[in-house]
Amino acid sequence: MTHQSYRIVCVNRDHHVEEVGTGAEPSHCERLWKATEVFAEIIDGNQFYTVSPSTGGTAAVEPFRCSCGAMTLRSDPNEVSDNNVVDLPPCTKPS
Ligand SMILES: [Zn+2]
Repeated sequence: MTHQSYRIVCVNRDHHVEEVGTGAEPSHCERLWKATEVFAEIIDGNQFYTVSPSTGGTAAVEPFRCSCGAMTLRSDPNEVSDNNVVDLPPCTKPS
């Protein structure tokens, strides 16, 4: 199986990241994923990442266990400057 990598362009979150949207263009969400779907994809070897608007640098997004015990997603803390997944705008319905 060929591994895929998906650029995250938007995020729906409450206390945790609930859903992320991916797409080739930062302003356009092509596909909406539940966090649980993203965990499964990452376990399968696929990658999700964000892109810094200022530098173009990428940061991997990884499963993360919150202090409350819930599984959620976060950006790799070693890579984040202004490309943290939680700072992305909310998703609109894919069109
Ligand atoms: Zn929590």
